[in-house]
Amino acid sequence: MKEDNLKILLAGEGGQGVQVIAEILNNTAYKAGLESIYIPNYGVEQRGGVSLAYLQLSKNPIAYPKFKIADILVVLCERAINRVKNYSNRKTKIINGIGFVEKVEEHNLSPRTYNMMILGLLTEFLPLDNGLVLKTMEEKFKKKNIPAELLNQNKQAFLLGRGLAVRLPRYAKKLASVPIKDHRKWPTFVKTSSDKPKITIKINPQYCKSCGICIYKCPTNALHFSEKITGIYGAPITEVDIKKCIGCGMCESVCPDTAIEVEKEKS
Ligand code: SF4
Ligand code: SF4
Repeated sequence: MKEDNLKILLAGEGGQGVQVIAEILNNTAYKAGLESIYIPNYGVEQRGGVSLAYLQLSKNPIAYPKFKIADILVVLCERAINRVKNYSNRKTKIINGIGFVEKVEEHNLSPRTYNMMILGLLTEFLPLDNGLVLKTMEEKFKKKNIPAELLNQNKQAFLLGRGLAVRLPRYAKKLASVPIKDHRKWPTFVKTSSDKPKITIKINPQYCKSCGICIYKCPTNALHFSEKITGIYGAPITEVDIKKCIGCGMCESVCPDTAIEVEKEKS
């Protein structure tokens, strides 16, 4: 593998099978003798949220499961774009799965195989043997006792994805132009410190499920529940007292729903 540590972020609707893709790649990497860490983030998909999977592959031990910038960003639904666009930079390879949604049905495959087509497509860009990925997929589905016909269709979808990979650049360009459909128009609450180095905290109420983990973990007690503003579950969201914040990034790291972003100016 050229990269010391390959960071992959997958994002889709709950039920699209993002986590299954990540689990198969994680298990394949393990079999191939690589270090691999996978952390799911189910978000609030029971209310129509976005499901994320953070995956890292490396020849060396991996320090921490989450990351800020992905080497490969895979997006499977329009709504996920807004959620994950900050995880990319100029070097990030973007796989816009949205452009492939119809492909499985065009090939007379079940819509349930969509994620395996994306897996085949993604595998083209990974330091993993395709045959080993396919074998791991088969093992996983056999354990789940899925019908032989559906297993066969999943294998065909995987091969279809590998074929499509050669046309990827044409589709990848689409990502930037896909409209973001968030009808709720949630605001983002931004606070910036006046002292140097400048610290900015952004809180996205549509993702905050009011679990309180960030408040518990903040080393300076800079976070508290709002008395006025509610989030996705109608419960109070987190607010920050920016004067107490030291920009350590702990809240961003522990938030299971990527509801907080921390930016600290380099001094
Ligand atoms: S960046 Fe650190 S100090 Fe600031 S709110 Fe988050 S956890 Fe607290
Ligand atoms: S911002 Fe805090 S309270 Fe809200 S989901 Fe994240 S960790 Fe939980």
